[in-house]
Order: sequence, then structure tokens, then C-alpha cells
Amino acid sequence: MRKKILAANWKMNLTASEAHVWVEQFSKDVAVNPELEFRLYAPAVFIPLLVDSSVLHVGAQNIHPKEEGAFTGEISIPQVKSVGARSVLIGHSERRILFHETDEFIGQKVAACLKNAFSFILCCGENLETRNSGTQLSLIRSQLAPILQAIKMEQLPLLTIAYEPIWAIGTGQSAETDQINEVHAYIRSILVDLFGQQGYDVPILYGGSVNTENAEAIFSCSNVDGGLIGGASLHANQFLQLASSIQ
Ligand code: PEP
Repeated sequence: MRKKILAANWKMNLTASEAHVWVEQFSKDVAVNPELEFRLYAPAVFIPLLVDSSVLHVGAQNIHPKEEGAFTGEISIPQVKSVGARSVLIGHSERRILFHETDEFIGQKVAACLKNAFSFILCCGENLETRNSGTQLSLIRSQLAPILQAIKMEQLPLLTIAYEPIWAIGTGQSAETDQINEVHAYIRSILVDLFGQQGYDVPILYGGSVNTENAEAIFSCSNVDGGLIGGASLHANQFLQLASSIQ
């Protein structure tokens, strides 16, 4: 059975003391469920301060494709691994839009993850213009297919995909369940075309304004294997409440 994942993306929020309070509250209140993996994508400076445990998998929000060198301000996979990170977010729309990351650069980051046997969540999603023009599926294919084609079958366990429509991120307007079902089924079909039966083992998360009100409906969609959560992950109690909506 595919594993379920509930992943917090703190983005550039919280201070060290607030991060500490979050982890304390999370550790006190978490109901351990062997079928659900909790992940925390924290600002890189906090990674060594956070408890990476069997209950909380701590990851990085970003890496540079190179392993070392003259890249002021950047951070590499060996560096985040050396302080305990277990995975990374790749292709988040904020990186694509605000930091001009192209599909090609995202492909280089994925290649670096594969080379280092480092797990990653590959994010994809359309903007409002694409959604309104009804071309979201071909956009999703163009973001995913060239990158997925470079993954060997034995590397597939490193991959998780997150579908995050840009118009739903941080807007309070999540996608409707029929929209989520359509895209997740399409991503599953791409995976199965490329990897056969093993394509069913890749978790596909939904992200975009998930909250305690809509979580149950979203997490009940088939092919939704959990969530990537921004705003609602900043308070440990809210984040944990979402977990109770994942079957
Ligand atoms: C995100 O940034 O990945 C995200 C899903 O944010 P939010 O939950 O705030 O929409």
C-alpha cells in the first residue's frame, strides 16, 4: 500500500524559539500512526535544531544542484544531509515564480537528488490563466514527464509528487474535489505509463489552502495520498488536526 504523507512547508516563517515550541507541541500531541508519515520542510538554518525522529521527518525547502563551489547563499544536498535533512522540496511554484527556476533547472535538481539517493517532493501545478484555458493537464505533463523519464525504476522510491495549483496556494481557495481528482488521476496515469505497476507506489500529495474545514473532502479523493501544507502548518495543533482527516 502507498504511504500517506502530511508535510508542513513553513516557507520563510517562524524564529528558532517558535520552531522549538512547534516541535515540543507536535511531539506531545502527535498520535503515532504507522501508515502516516509526518514531514517538516523547515528553513535550512533550523534543520539541525529540529528533532528528526521516527515520528517527524525533517527536510529542506531547497537545494542547489551542485554539490559544492562558488554559489554564495546556496546550500547543497551533502550539506543539508550532513545536518539531518532526509528530503527536499523541488519545483515549488514560489521557487519557479519568485526565483525564476525553469523546468530545466528543476530537472538538474532532481538529477542531483537521484545521484545522492536523496528523497524529494516534486511540485507541479498550473496558474489561473492555464486553468481558465482548460489546458492544465498538458501543462502538468510538460512539468513532469521530461523529469520523470530520467528516473530509473530502482530510484522510484525517492519520488513523491505534489500537485499544487498556483491559484490555490495561500489564497484560501482550495481546488474543488473534481479538479483534484482529475489532475491526480492524470498524474497517476503518467506514472503508470512510465513505470508500470510501480507507478502505483508513488505518493501524490495535494497542496493549496488545505485547512481543517476542507481537509476531509480533499484527503478522501482517490489518488490523494496526503498533503503539502503551508499556512495551516504553522501551528502544530492545526497541522495535527489535519492528520485526523487522512484515512
Ligand atoms: C504551499 O506553499 O505549498 C502551500 C500549499 O501553501 P498553503 O497551504 O498556504 O496554500
